[in-house]
Amino acid sequence: MPDLPDVRRRWQSIGRSWPIVAAASFGLVSAIVAWLAVSAWEERLAKAKFYNIAGDYAQTLQNGLDDYLRKLLAVRALYEASIDIDANEFAVFTDQILAGQTEKMRVIWCPYVTRAERAAFEREQIEAGLADYAIKSWRASGTPPLSPERDEYFPVLYSTFASKATATFGMDLNSEPVRSRAIQYARDNDVVATAQDVMLRNPIAGSRLGFIYIAPVYRVGVPLDTQEQRHDNIRGVLVASFQTKAVIDSILAKAALPQSVSIYVYRSDDGAHAMPIYWRAAVGADQPVAAKSLAELAGLNYWSGPVKAGNANWKLVVVPEQEGLISYYRAWLAFFAVLFVFSAVVAYMWASLRHALRLESANSRILTLAQTDLLTDLANRRAFMKRLTAAFNASARGAPPFAVLYLDIDDFKDVNDTLGHAMGDLLLKQVVERLKTLVGSGHFVARFGGDEFAILVCDVRDPHVVGELAARIRKSLGEPFTIDHHRLRITSSIGISVYSSDLSGPEDMLVQADLALYGAKDEGRNCYRFHSRDLDRKVHERVRVADELRAALEHRELELYYQPQVALATGRIMGLEALIRWNHKTRGLLTPAAFIPIAERTGAALAIGSWVFEEACRQLKLWHVEGIAPQVLAVNVSGVQLKGSAELEREVAGALTRFGIDPGRLELELTESVLMEATQRHKTTLENLRQLGTKIAIDDFGTGYSSLKYLTTYPVNRLKLAQEFVFRVTVDYRNAAVVRAAIRLAHELGLEVIAEGVETEAQMRFLIGAGCEHAQGYYFSRPVTAERTTELLREGVIRPEAGELRRTKTNVA
Ligand code: C2E
Ligand code: MG
Ligand code: MG
Repeated sequence: MPDLPDVRRRWQSIGRSWPIVAAASFGLVSAIVAWLAVSAWEERLAKAKFYNIAGDYAQTLQNGLDDYLRKLLAVRALYEASIDIDANEFAVFTDQILAGQTEKMRVIWCPYVTRAERAAFEREQIEAGLADYAIKSWRASGTPPLSPERDEYFPVLYSTFASKATATFGMDLNSEPVRSRAIQYARDNDVVATAQDVMLRNPIAGSRLGFIYIAPVYRVGVPLDTQEQRHDNIRGVLVASFQTKAVIDSILAKAALPQSVSIYVYRSDDGAHAMPIYWRAAVGADQPVAAKSLAELAGLNYWSGPVKAGNANWKLVVVPEQEGLISYYRAWLAFFAVLFVFSAVVAYMWASLRHALRLESANSRILTLAQTDLLTDLANRRAFMKRLTAAFNASARGAPPFAVLYLDIDDFKDVNDTLGHAMGDLLLKQVVERLKTLVGSGHFVARFGGDEFAILVCDVRDPHVVGELAARIRKSLGEPFTIDHHRLRITSSIGISVYSSDLSGPEDMLVQADLALYGAKDEGRNCYRFHSRDLDRKVHERVRVADELRAALEHRELELYYQPQVALATGRIMGLEALIRWNHKTRGLLTPAAFIPIAERTGAALAIGSWVFEEACRQLKLWHVEGIAPQVLAVNVSGVQLKGSAELEREVAGALTRFGIDPGRLELELTESVLMEATQRHKTTLENLRQLGTKIAIDDFGTGYSSLKYLTTYPVNRLKLAQEFVFRVTVDYRNAAVVRAAIRLAHELGLEVIAEGVETEAQMRFLIGAGCEHAQGYYFSRPVTAERTTELLREGVIRPEAGELRRTKTNVA
């Protein structure tokens, strides 16, 4: 699992790569912008290019159509120049003008013939060599019938069409409505009129659909100013006919224009839904272009412009073939160019950063390796020294002291020699596992090599704690190991040095721990030693006591003694204080001073405390049954117990209910110093206990911080005046004054007062004089066994003058 700095480093490295991310994003955005800009530019360019092409198409078409018109006008000029043109002249002249283009454009001469002139005209033509010439009605195909009698005829007389045998000759154009309308318009207005969508009689190629120009020819030398004059003086019409598809194709083919557009030609007068009169697909178009109306082209990006065919208005529509026209290749080029440049830059930056990161991670790996023991992954000596130096400097600056444990497995060499190094390694790994669990995360374990380990224990205000830890380690490593189906037992020796300000440096501590380790080995191994003999003795003693205490509870070596509390006025036993004793196997009967402080430091105080509640309540019950129970039984509560407040509440309530005891008969004694350290939470606990009905007394009042605050802050029932005060009341008048004041004060606050340690009659008399109601002390009785207490309770009254001191001697402690 990566440790915290490792994770942080990774985050930092990600943090450091933000310029790359920014550059990459910027690169992408720039590339897109470049692509858009070039696209827009290309599109504009393509559009301009397309408009040019479309314009060229329009121009080409217009020129072509005009050219044909000019040719027709040239023929008309011939007619205007002479009164009579015969077939031969017509043929020669048109041949010259059309210059071989007879396939595209046909020119026909249709003279004006009235009803009256018809017969003569027909005859004249037959005489001129046109056999069977007669005026016929116009038909698109087949044999045209003879024309019925009409007022006016415009029959075909000459034609550039080769075969004179064709039925075209003699056909009256005036008999066909479209042509007739165009003839009348041209005649009346002296313009070239265009008849559109006409069926051509002799198709040139493909469709017969075409258009014709009709140019009026007037009599020579007559005025033509009015419509009437023009109408009357008509001599005939010259007609040029075109097959639409063929002629436009040929016109457009003449100019070498790009073929990547589709071309449509519409009649301007037609609606948007009309089909074109001409269309041509773009070369390379995916699909053949079908005739499409303008409405169908809507939405496409096309160009349109007017074209005039004679007096007919056309609309030319040019549609670009998309792919062919706008390729955007420069846009893509720009996009990739920009992207490439940025990618290259980013790749370079990334590569250098990665290189730097790799270097850094390699460095840190090297650094870690340099400080790690490869077999166990623990810190090595070097790393330990670093920590030790830091801890030493911190303690030198005033931080709490710390300790160094130097541990060595006894006879590890034997394990290696008999079972092999591989087994030795496995054993060491398991030792490390146990050490880690025992030591916890707050401290620092290192392997110095071989079977030597060092532990830095922080915050060692009490060396005894380190002793305990060493004892636990020794014990735990003493448990059998199972390695590869082998059961192994080892022992360990530990040397301990604790920081003190007279040490010159961290190395000193290691030397001391090492010496202590030698001491431990000297003393037969499988033990721990402090570097200082004195400390060593004290710690060992205390650790031993703590161990013994735990056993004492199991072996029922603890006992409660009771000291009576007497009403000064009557000598009646109104209460008892339970005081613990330890019947030690070898040291005899021990008073609390010998073991309670140790119990409080080692945690045994909790177990002892609950035993005391249980035992006191049990005894009280017995006295109750016998009917001699005192009004109150006081039990001492240590600070450790108060700190486990919830537990305390539960225990008190539990013991009371188990034995069916009135809570008002139990009094909890707390010293001033314990109350001093109490917090809001403890205050609540005390209030809860008071709520339960138990009494609360302040023990040894006057010795500690004697603050009146406690009296008002905590739910207290009783003050116990400390022995020290009582002892001196008769010899020290200031003491006497303080005691008197304390008693008065307690009464003012509604508290009871009991004086402790009353040893003499004089003290008793003083207390009675000062208004104190209760007392406890050797003068009345020493603490005595439960058995002896029963006797006292049966008597009910204590008369010190009766020699109580003497009488209790055998049972006292
Ligand atoms: P304490 O609560 O102030 O108990 C009174 C101590 O004064 C007792 O000492 C008692 O034997 C002694 N004493 C009583 N009358 C006289 C007298 O006239 N002259 C003199 N010189 N001494 C007198 P002990 O029993 O050794 O207890 C010492 C302390 O140990 C107690 O002081 C109390 O704080 C603590 N202790 C006793 N039993 C327990 C217990 O069960 N739990 C806890 N946590 N502490 C206890
Ligand atoms: Mg007490
Ligand atoms: Mg006391």
